[in-house]
Parts: sequence; structure tokens; C-alpha cells
Amino acid sequence: MQTQLFIGGQFVPAANGETLASLNPHDNSVIAEVAMAGPADIDRAVAAAKAAFPKWSKLAAMERGRLLLKLADAIEANADRLARLESIDTGHPIRDTRNLDVPRTAATFRYFGGMADKFEGSVIPVEAGFLNYLTREPVGVVGQVVPWNFPLMFTSWKMAPALAAGNCVILKPAELTPLSSLAIAELMAEVGFPAGVVNILPGLGSVAGQSIAEHPEIGKVAFTGSTAVGRRIVQASSGNLKKVQLELGGKGANLVFGDADLDAVVQGSAFGIFHNQGQACIAASRMIVHEAVADELLEKFVALARSIKIGDPLDPSTEMGPLTSSQHRDRVLSYVDIAREQGGRVLTGGKTPDAAALASGCYVEPTIVAAKPEDRVSQEEVFGPFMTVATFRTDEEALAIANGTEYGLGAGLWTRDLQRAHLVARELHAGMVWVNCYKRVSPASPFGGVGASGYGREMGFEAMREYTQPKSVWVNVDAQIPAYFPR
Ligand code: NAD
Repeated sequence: MQTQLFIGGQFVPAANGETLASLNPHDNSVIAEVAMAGPADIDRAVAAAKAAFPKWSKLAAMERGRLLLKLADAIEANADRLARLESIDTGHPIRDTRNLDVPRTAATFRYFGGMADKFEGSVIPVEAGFLNYLTREPVGVVGQVVPWNFPLMFTSWKMAPALAAGNCVILKPAELTPLSSLAIAELMAEVGFPAGVVNILPGLGSVAGQSIAEHPEIGKVAFTGSTAVGRRIVQASSGNLKKVQLELGGKGANLVFGDADLDAVVQGSAFGIFHNQGQACIAASRMIVHEAVADELLEKFVALARSIKIGDPLDPSTEMGPLTSSQHRDRVLSYVDIAREQGGRVLTGGKTPDAAALASGCYVEPTIVAAKPEDRVSQEEVFGPFMTVATFRTDEEALAIANGTEYGLGAGLWTRDLQRAHLVARELHAGMVWVNCYKRVSPASPFGGVGASGYGREMGFEAMREYTQPKSVWVNVDAQIPAYFPR
């Protein structure tokens, strides 16, 4: 397992020798001591990336794509190792890291590997006599700061489009979960990415992350994380006016209309809120259900929540693992008290599991709380296996509740009425809407939010636009230039 910084194609210790323990959230045991980058290391990485940029950006797009495709193959060849590493570092159940995280990571590198030589410029129909064409040039050195909830997958979401477009990258994983991105660095070196094209530097957000956001020679910073830190990044980036892309928090509305297929709602919504222990920005954290079907739906939903098998992430039968850290577990549990103080009713969960075998881990039971739409638990991102439920009578009321937070990332709705589905999808304040499903993602489909959920989009052609700068070139083919100062 690699535990050092990856700079200029080499694994090296931090300049100041600092390390931080990475813990297994199942039992809080130490997995590894990992080097923690400081500003001097960020400087070294920027120098390596700058040196690599001229050659990398001029390499044939097909060749950049070929390396990304080779990386996707290498990820699949190392699937078991990567899945285990991700499970012990994050707490994701192994069934998910094997079946979702690793395949999705490979798929994203593969998608952008294929994209590299298909992302075209355009010719713009301006007045006769001129050829005006648009090319898209890489930004240069880009900084990428990612959170701990899907560390492996986010290496691909962030790095794949940036590299396909010809940028060089400095990626900082979250301090809690640095291991899978270092494993990816190892594979990148193996498949032949040139030194300096990718640099991976674990480190503290307030030190290494801040240094990336401020760095005068980094042309863009792409950030996934909390809205509070997103705001800090915007401020820190102002020195050199770097491009900023923000994927921030969410408070996903999940609207259930009276005509919905309730069994499908139960399964889709349970995936929406309990997959990855609810630690997803697009979690279905607010169920908003028509009062006519609320009792029937909740009876089924609570029964399913109580039956979820919680346990050691490495046990293949485990359906929900621990949260990523004990501090985060305590924060999530604190919202149970906050809910009760405002009159919320805990319908199930709201505590750590009773099983003695889980006592030293960061576990929280699947939690469902009936709460008013204006309560703190219905407004603030809890980022755990914690769902609020509120009821509505009319479609207008449902939409008002759904749109009644500062966030606008993902939202979903369940109905058999085609017209209502499209109408509500149009009116939802969100970057992504799911109809009769929840939390679907694909490397081909733009991902991101509005409002306090940030701006910019990952995935698809949108991501390639985010990682390039348009350049408009005017050529006089046979136009007569009118005399502006006739003499
Ligand atoms: P966080 O904002 O605390 O940390 C995210 C990353 O930012 C970490 O790598 C951290 O080290 C770094 N960081 C912290 N302070 C920094 C600073 N001052 N300057 C630069 N970097 C800094 O978030 P978290 O608690 O790790 O992750 C959970 C949050 O991420 C949730 O709010 C969640 O909704 C959000 N998230 C959003 C998306 C999305 O795509 N919209 C996806 C996943 C998670």
C-alpha cells in the first residue's frame, strides 16, 4: 500500500516529514500512516505539473485517451485490491465497492479515454469572407480537492476529464480517506502516464487544500465538499482569478405522489438514503409524501430500514457499514437531539446499533424522522443514514416544500402520471432530477447543482467544457476590410 505523496512520478515523503494516521472506521484501528502535504509540497507538485504540461497538452488526444483506457483496464485487473482498500478506509460495504465504486471508477476513466479525441471545436457562421473557428484549449495546471465519501470514484470524476482535455493535475484526497487515490497513482505510473502529469497529495484541507486554492500558478480549482468550504475556496482563489468549479452539499427532495408504485418507492428511496450510509451529496434525505399514502409507505419503509444488515464492511453480506469517522458519527447523532428539540418524531433508528461487535466502530442505525419542512433537520445536510419525512396535500405544496432549502443538487419524484412527472421535473430547483428512480449517475450524464449546491458540471461533454478554455480564431479568407479611417 502506498502511503507517500505522489509528485513528479515518484512517491516521496512530505517536505516537513508530517504524517497522519488513516483509520478503519469499523473498529478505529490504524490502517497506515500517510504523508501529509504542506505548502512546500504543493509548490513542488505545481512545478512538476508545469514542466509536464507543454508535452502532455500537445500529445495527440488519441494518445492521452489510450492511457486513460489502459488505466481503466488496470483498475479492473486490480478490482479486488481496490475494493478492499476502499472498504477498510471508508467503511463502504465490500458488496458496494466491488459492484459500484470500482466498476464506476473504471467506467469513468474509460468514458473520458474515449472522449479525448472526440471532443471537437466548431466553425461559427460569421459574415462572408471570414473563417471563425473555436478551439478548446486545456487550462494548464488544475487543482482538485475531493471529500471522503466516494474517494476512489471521485479520482475518476475529477481526473479523467481534466486529463483527457490535456491538463496536468494536482489532486488532494480528504485527510480521512487518502489510500485509494494513492493506489490509483501507482496504477497510473504503471500504465505509463508521464511524470508530473498527475500528482496526488494527501493533506489537511486547511493547509494543503487552502494552498491549492490560493496557488498563483494553478489555473483552475475543482472542489467537491461542503458548502462552507466551497465559499472559502472561492475567496482563496481570487488572487489569480482562477476558474472555480464547485460540487457542494445537497438536501435531496424525494417526492412521492398518491399514485406512485409504493414498493418501487421503498426500494428506490432506501437506496437513495441508505447506500453508503447516506454519505452522499445526492442522498434522498427528505421524503415528501402525499398524506393519502404516507402511512402505508412509512410502514413498509420503516420495516425495510429495520431489516438492513449493518456490520463489518468486509463481510460480503453487510448492507450498511460504519460512517467514515467517529466525529462524523457523533455529528449525525447530534441531529437526532436537534430533531427532537424541534418536535420531530424518530420513527426508527436514531442511535448506534446494540450489537457488541460494532461498539468500537462508527455505526449509526438507519434513521427516519418525521419533521416539519422548516426544521433544522429538514434544512441542513446531515450526511448520514438520516431521512426526514413530511406530508403534503397538493402538488403546489409538494413543490414548495421540495424547493424550500438553499440547496439544489438532486431531486426525485415518484408518480404514474406522465404529465405531472414532466411538469414537476421542470419546476424542481435542482441540477439533476430522477423520475421513478433515485440517485442514478453515469459518466455520460452531467452532474452538479444550483444554488448552495455549487456550479459547474462533472461528467459528459459538460465536464470537457469545464476543463478547457474556448479560443475564437478569426481568419480573413477573402473579405475586404472597410476603411475605418479613410485617407
Ligand atoms: P469538506 O468540505 O470538509 O472537505 C472536502 C475536502 O475539502 C477535503 O479534502 C478537505 O480536506 C478539503 N478542505 C477542507 N477545508 C479546506 C480549505 N479551507 N481549503 C481547501 N480545501 C479544504 O467536506 P467533507 O466533510 O469532507 O465532505 C462532505 C461534504 O461534501 C458534504 O457537504 C457533501 O454534500 C459534499 N459533497 C458534494 C458532492 C457533490 O458532487 N456535489 C459530492 C460528495 C460530497
